[in-house]
Amino acid sequence: MSGYQTRQNAIAAVTNYKPSAAPLNYSQTPPTEVFGSNTFNEKVMQEMLPKDVYKSLKKTIELGEKIDSSIAGVVASAMKKWALSKGATHYTHVFYPLTGLTAEKHDSFLAPDGKGGAIAEFDAKQLIQGEPDASSFPSGGIRSTFEARGYTAWDVTNPAYILENPNGTFLCIPTAFVSWTGEALDKKTPLLRANQALNKQAQRVLKLFGHTKNEPVQSFAGPEQEYFLIDRNFYFARPDLLIAGRTLFGGKPAKGQEFEDHYFGAIPRRVLAFMLEVEHELYKLGVPVKTRHNEVAPAQYEIAPIYEQSNLATDHNQMVMSTLKSVAKRYGMVCLLHEKPFAGINGSGKHLNYSVGTKSLGSLFDPGDTPHENAQFLIFCAAAIRAVHKYSSLLRATVATASNDHRLGANEAPPAILSVYLGEQLSDVFEQIKKGKVEGSKQKGIMNIGVDTLPPLPMDPGDRNRTSPFAFTGNRFEFRAVGSGMSIAGSQVALNAMMADSLDFIATQLEKLTKGKPEKLNEAVQKVIKDIMDKHGAIIFNGDGYSEAWHKEAKKRGLPNYKTTPEALPALTTPEVVALFEKYEVLTKRELHSRQEIYMEQYCRVINTEANLVIKMAKTMIFPAAVRYQSELAATCANLKAIGHDFTMLTLEDVTAKLRSLQKSVNELEKALNHENGDTLSHAKYLCDKVLPAMLKVRSYVDQLEGVVADDLWPLPSYQEMLFIK
Ligand code: ADP
Ligand code: MG
Repeated sequence: MSGYQTRQNAIAAVTNYKPSAAPLNYSQTPPTEVFGSNTFNEKVMQEMLPKDVYKSLKKTIELGEKIDSSIAGVVASAMKKWALSKGATHYTHVFYPLTGLTAEKHDSFLAPDGKGGAIAEFDAKQLIQGEPDASSFPSGGIRSTFEARGYTAWDVTNPAYILENPNGTFLCIPTAFVSWTGEALDKKTPLLRANQALNKQAQRVLKLFGHTKNEPVQSFAGPEQEYFLIDRNFYFARPDLLIAGRTLFGGKPAKGQEFEDHYFGAIPRRVLAFMLEVEHELYKLGVPVKTRHNEVAPAQYEIAPIYEQSNLATDHNQMVMSTLKSVAKRYGMVCLLHEKPFAGINGSGKHLNYSVGTKSLGSLFDPGDTPHENAQFLIFCAAAIRAVHKYSSLLRATVATASNDHRLGANEAPPAILSVYLGEQLSDVFEQIKKGKVEGSKQKGIMNIGVDTLPPLPMDPGDRNRTSPFAFTGNRFEFRAVGSGMSIAGSQVALNAMMADSLDFIATQLEKLTKGKPEKLNEAVQKVIKDIMDKHGAIIFNGDGYSEAWHKEAKKRGLPNYKTTPEALPALTTPEVVALFEKYEVLTKRELHSRQEIYMEQYCRVINTEANLVIKMAKTMIFPAAVRYQSELAATCANLKAIGHDFTMLTLEDVTAKLRSLQKSVNELEKALNHENGDTLSHAKYLCDKVLPAMLKVRSYVDQLEGVVADDLWPLPSYQEMLFIK
């Protein structure tokens, strides 16, 4: 099918669009009733479980206490009853392997009753533990093939839920995925471990501030999810989108995003219908999605939830991604979660809003109203400053993928150099503490930090800097380097472990300085913050992260700038990072090595696939189209010559020259790909340094040809069509 034909089909799909299902009727069933209706949530548990069982389970969920395994049987039986009442025939342990995807294997509830009939069965063991055939999930050498077993273990803290299909429903149980030796094979296990570490160290600090309530400190996440939507006709006509999730060719459209007319603009009808259904599906699953809007690039949108405890937020973000994808199909569209589906216009990220807090205290990154709270706030901020400075390479490594490489540092997303944005006024306070000499605040304000020598601290959370990778936004930090298609688990694991380390350090210092004399706390706080600023203040930067000057300045400050995945990933196994993760029992050295290996392999696989696609598409789609056009032009030339015109046709010359260059560049790419692998790291480096540029060279000739070859012969839908027909 030619690009031309696809365009006709897409136009028909858009203009003839009719809803395929009955409209959602919120006036009949209000959203409050829909919300959580497919989850085995607290309300259901309270109704269906004996009181003591419910209480015990609630303790585990809310206080992180060890689960009493004797109650699993009762819970399983209630869960089964509930699931059957919702029409479920199967159950599945849902887990999050290192591919970054969501995995599930379904089992039927049915069991033979011994009399030729069947009963529905689901017991404690089936709830608590599963054993999926795990051999095909990456383990990075942790599992040898002769012991390929992996286990899934019920994560009590996230409610089980029902997923619907037009032909039935099934019960989903969130689980962690570990090897038979207990090593983490997934994204969830280290997150749960890192949460525990964070809690332990944060408690020590809070105790010094007089909080003794038995209430866990948790991390919270609010991921803003960006995505592209295009008509499905285009998608199927582009092997690169289908296989690689991004366009490997495509000339710049006459109009890009420079008009800035898409951002926050009116949402197209079909797209809005899609969004409404996405939200409806997510409500049922108890995912608190809140905002929807157009994003900066044409055909780009965003959905953001209300923040939740990080483990829950992470699972929910996985659900958001899969729901976006599945619902888009029902509307004749495709949802692209790739970080850079289209060159030359903005890519998609996932701003991870991150905070640390407790139920009753709220966010500990929130200044609060009293001097006492303000001092505590500054301590937690200082912990974050120290954490990001000390482990910036680790944090950078958590967002390193082949696809996110196209985005980071491309003057639309934050630079690959990590820095912390505090805003002018908060920076000023930290600077004054650092100098140990306080002359007054820049502006009169509302904040007083209870340190006698310090002025009231003015707060301006509205101060925004979009170029910063790690920005303070009033009551949280926003980590903006996460890619749209990736799990948010990895960055939170790192953040929580880093914070645990900082809070441990701070608690130890404060304990030493106060030695049972709480009245010395303010003085101690000031000293600890000053020390942290002296050592780690270099990470603070409030200026333009895109500027050349910052890149130079960052270098002077010794801040690393890892531009690509092969440069960034090795940070996962440096001695400092291994020591951090082992000390707080988040990941062992072996687990870290396995992760690094898996991610590096994934990088290689992606580039390799893309390079092969470039070759195949150039040879079998682009070349033939251009040759056809060339022969049309040549025939015209011959005809004209036959009737006496004598001239050279410039277009023919042009196409011929470009075709030659294309062929040459394809040959070069083929040669570059033909390479002995070596170890994974050196292979990844090779692909990054040699193969990626060769791919880009082919692309440049293809894109030039797109600009001259007759439109009806061009086989691929163009950027213009994909981005603007909606
Ligand atoms: P913006 O685009 O201005 O950053 P959004 O409303 O799109 O704002 O997204 C902000 C996100 O930050 C939401 O998901 C919100 O729930 C989340 N958020 C707000 N407060 C906190 C907090 N204390 N901790 C973590 N996330 C938070
Ligand atoms: Mg934001």
